[in-house]
Amino acid sequence: MRKKKKRVMLPNEEIYAILRAADDIIGEGGRTLVSKILKGSKEKKLLELGLGQNPAYGFFAERTMEEVMEKVDWMIQEGFLDTEMSGRLPMIVFTPIGWLIERDRRGSELLDQWDVWVRNGITPLNMIDLKDCNRGMMLLFLRKVLLTNDEKYIPFLKKWAEVDYKKVRDAIAGVVQILEQQDVQDPLEWEMKKGELAQELLVPSKDPVILACHECGMPFVINGTEPENYTEDGFQVPVMCNRC
Ligand SMILES: [Zn+2]
Repeated sequence: MRKKKKRVMLPNEEIYAILRAADDIIGEGGRTLVSKILKGSKEKKLLELGLGQNPAYGFFAERTMEEVMEKVDWMIQEGFLDTEMSGRLPMIVFTPIGWLIERDRRGSELLDQWDVWVRNGITPLNMIDLKDCNRGMMLLFLRKVLLTNDEKYIPFLKKWAEVDYKKVRDAIAGVVQILEQQDVQDPLEWEMKKGELAQELLVPSKDPVILACHECGMPFVINGTEPENYTEDGFQVPVMCNRC
């Protein structure tokens, strides 16, 4: 009997690591540089660019450069990453689905950082680093803060509101208000308001993502505003269309 050729998949952690490595050099570096970050290269130029600080730096330290390049190429073939010509060089960019996964991961990374600050009693002087970050990502991060139901983040939120633009400031104020009202408002009404705000904070991706249904094979579209795809383990790429 002829065996169907099995599609090779990378484990989720590897997909996440490669997207994170790419994130610091989007539009500015190629697939070789992404691979070098993942390999943990000691190259002077790479370290001067601060890429040794990338959380995915050295993730594939045990692998050969060739193996790492293969994984990065798999990400491009499978549509998580893409390349765009800049001058004569192909630079790595996110595909819409790659960015949906990565922006969610970055939101979790920020929340982890806030947790470290809370645990160690650190209050940063200001939150200027959060300004000028991708807006969809920041609102998604706010959504994560909201869904913790935890008031301990309120001082950070207020500090952040001091430095950001009106649209983000308004969203922050909304989250602060809900967190503060948790104990004074009717629980049902509170849950409803929280749910509404949580939905508003899911910003659609600039380009809709077209996926093929694993069941019927028909194409279907998502745009990153489906709350069921956001789990604790990260953004889950849906495999089936609504009808299946
Ligand atoms: Zn289907």
